[in-house]
Formats: sequence, C-alpha cells, structure tokens
Amino acid sequence: MPIATVNPATGETLKTFEPHGPDEIEATVARAASAFREYRTTSFAERSELMRRAADLLEKDRDEIAAIMTTEMGKTLAAARAEAAKCVKAMRWYAERAEGLLADERVDTADVEDSGGSRAYVRYRPLGVVLAVMPWNFPLWQVVRFAAPALMAGNVGLLKHASNVPQTALYLGDLFRRAGFPEGCFATLLIGSREVEGVLRDSRVAAATLTGSEPAGRSVASIAGDEVKKTVLELGGSDPYIVLPSADVAAAAKTAVTARVQNNGQSCIAAKRFIVHTDVHDEFAERFVAGMAALSVGDPMREGTDVGPVSSEQGRADLEELVDDATARGATALCGGRRPQDQPKGWFYEPTVLAGVTPDMRIHHEEAFGPVATLYRVPDLDAAVDLANDTPFGLSSNVWTSDNAEQHRCVRDLQAGGIFFNGMTASHPAMPFGGVKRSGYGRELADHGIREFCNATTVWYG
Ligand code: NDP
Repeated sequence: MPIATVNPATGETLKTFEPHGPDEIEATVARAASAFREYRTTSFAERSELMRRAADLLEKDRDEIAAIMTTEMGKTLAAARAEAAKCVKAMRWYAERAEGLLADERVDTADVEDSGGSRAYVRYRPLGVVLAVMPWNFPLWQVVRFAAPALMAGNVGLLKHASNVPQTALYLGDLFRRAGFPEGCFATLLIGSREVEGVLRDSRVAAATLTGSEPAGRSVASIAGDEVKKTVLELGGSDPYIVLPSADVAAAAKTAVTARVQNNGQSCIAAKRFIVHTDVHDEFAERFVAGMAALSVGDPMREGTDVGPVSSEQGRADLEELVDDATARGATALCGGRRPQDQPKGWFYEPTVLAGVTPDMRIHHEEAFGPVATLYRVPDLDAAVDLANDTPFGLSSNVWTSDNAEQHRCVRDLQAGGIFFNGMTASHPAMPFGGVKRSGYGRELADHGIREFCNATTVWYG
C-alpha cells in the first residue's frame, strides 16, 4: 500500500510520501535506543511537565489536526475534534497519575520474613523502545492511548502508523518533539507493513503493541514470540448489544444507532450484533431502523453529517461482500444494503440493518467494519448470552436491562473484556481496555495499561 493521503470522500489522492529507507530506519531506531538510556532516568515530575506541554499543544492544534484526520480517513469533523479532545484528557490523566500508578509496592513484612529477608518491594521499571503498529480508524487516539502511559513510564516509542494516515503520523512525532521530549523519545517511521519485521527483530527494540486486524496481529505476535518480546494486541471486535424486556427500549434504540455508526461504523468497540428479546424486538427494531435510515450520509467536513465514507475503497468492498453474502443466503436489509445514490464519488455506504442472519453467513462470524448492523430475535436471556458468545471475538459487550439478576448473570457469562449496562461501550483513561479470544490480549489504559510495558522488578534485602 503506498503511503499517501487519499480523501475517502472523493477518492482523490492529495499527497504521497516517500517511505523511509534502510538508513533512515536505522538512524531512527538508533536515536530511540540512545534516547532511552537517558530518558529512563528522568523523574515523573519531568515527564509530567513534558506530557502536559504536549497536551496543551494538542489542545491548541485541535481544529487543524481534526481537519487532517477527516481528510485522511473520513470521520466527521465533529468526531475528529472530539477525538483530539479525548487525547488531551488522557495525556493530562497520565501526567497527573503515572507516579502513583507506578509507585513501589511493598511486600507484606510477614511474607518477606518468610522468604528469609528483611524487606522487599516491587519497582515498575520501563522496558525500553516499544514499537507501536497503529490503525487509521482513530488515528490520534489509538496512538496517544499507547504513547501517554508508555512515555510516562519512561519507555520510548517508535510509531509505524497505517499507510493512509501519514500526515497524522508525522504530526504525532512532531507534537512530542515540540513539547520538549528529548530527541528520539517518540518518532514516526514512515514504513509499510513489510518493514515491520526488521524493526521488530532489531535487538534494540524491546516490545510491540498493535491495534488492527487479526492477520496483522498474528504476524506481529508471531515475530515477537520468535524473538521473545512482549506484545499487546488490540484486534477486531463484533460486540453484542443485548436488549431485554426491562430495558428502556426507546433509549436503547437511540443509543444503538450511535453505538453502531460512530466513526462511520469503523470502531472496534462499535456494537455490531443487536440481540433483542422477542417481547421488545418489534418495538426496538422499528425505532432502530428508523434511526439508522434517518442518518445524514455525506461530506464529513460538513456540519450536520452523521456518517461519512468508509476509509478506503477496499474497506467498502469488504463491507459490500459481507452484506451481499448475507442477502444471497436469505438475510433481509431492513434499511440500506447499498451505496447511496446521491454520492457517486467517494466510498460511502448506507447505514444498514440486516435481519434474518444465520450462522452460515459470513457476517455472523466476521467483523463488519462500516455502518452495518445485524439484528437477531431471541426467546430469553440464555439464548441471548449463547448468541453473544457465538463469535471468535471478545472485545466488549452492551446489555440493556434493569434487572439485577440478569446483570449478575451477564457479568458472570459474557466472554468479553468489557460489559456496559444501559449505555454503549466507550474507553476512558481510568478503565482498562482490551479483549479476550481473537480480540487480542493485554490491556491498555488505567493502571493495567501503564504496567504492560514495565518490568515488575522484585527488590529484596537480606
Ligand atoms: P490492518 O490490520 O491491515 O492495519 C493496521 C496496522 O497494521 C497498519 O499500520 C498496517 O500497516 C499494519 N499492518 C498490516 N499488516 C501488517 C503485517 N502483516 N505486519 C505488520 N503490520 C501490519 O487493518 P486494515 O486497515 O487493513 O483493516 C482491515 C480490517 O481490520 C478492518 O476491516 C477491521 O476489521 C480490522 N481493523 C480493526 C481495527 C480495530 O480498531 N480493532 C482497526 C483497523 C482495522 P499498513 O497500513 O501499512 O498496511
């Protein structure tokens, strides 16, 4: 894939970039390794100061970088501005709390004595150079979600961003440099995915984090496994959205629309499979389909647009294949199911609700990365939980019920890294984020996230 900005709303190539060659890659890795030797010794206060400065700069740049993101991957301008604001918040959150999250942990005196020692504690020390392979869907947030905790822990970062968001990638490298982080602490490598293996196998690189598709995750994890290097993987999701009879059905249907089409439907934690109890199915379906059909699809730069284009021609083709496979096998599109007639240019797709989906259809098991929902009717909670878990993924889940016993049951049985009741899944710096099954492993955000790239070191005194 060429490294280029191609506007998904028009299909026009706006800018192409020469990938970094071997010498530039070598120099960048060398600078990162050298930066780590000094940076790891800086105090939390010094790092906080730098992180706060980066947050202030990003806050000032918000509108400018939002327009770049919208141009590169098609999210609405309002969503892009909100993404930048969310990054600012996360940077400040970690700037304020990292020291506390990574404070030494005393080992209980009785246990220390039992081990024959006088005192012992655990110190969280940084691992080193961490390679971040990142996707285009939240081109700022996915990176900041890694960079803010990693840099606050004393690690340094190398960013290999998706090839369709090079301007956002370069902006990020520049942002941390302008904030005053020492040369090499955070750098953007403009490279294609084929160059990832060489960087990952480099002995100066300690670990990797990847957010993206399962094949990309599998490749990076197997190379890292071969090199015995730590990885965190955040892969796809096909989150269930269960609606039970005690729910506020109108609220559930309204939130369902946002949960499905946020980011033009291209979010790993978007609700994708809507599993509705038969008692409230018809009311939910009517409201949900009406909400999806009423969305305004068009130019993401325009105020008032709800859904912009899918990020690439291939992305839309993948989505069309999934929908066509389902309808050919008997599913019905209650709305959408095609390209909008009034958008001849760009990679738009109408918000779609598919009913009558069965396990022989690809969309039953695969992630639909665009504004396409599947709607299922179930007779009871047992069937809802079984269907929710009938997926290779396990990122997050949503359940609408005000019944305590049903909530306990879902907390016990849903196979996912998150369970959100009476609302939709969202990430927040204070809450760990990540999945089980083929959605990946490890956690980002919160104390769990900042410790992923730390060496939990036992310090023991005789
Ligand atoms: P990819 O997984 O291909 O891209 C994500 C990142 O991984 C990019 O930086 C990409 O680089 C890189 N990459 C791709 N293949 C490899 C590899 N073999 N080794 C190392 N790095 C690699 O996602 P796509 O953009 O192709 O999207 C395909 C599907 O993936 C989507 O339809 C969706 O299902 C899922 N996806 C999920 C995301 C999530 O948030 N969980 C985010 C994005 C996609 P390059 O751009 O240069 O290829």
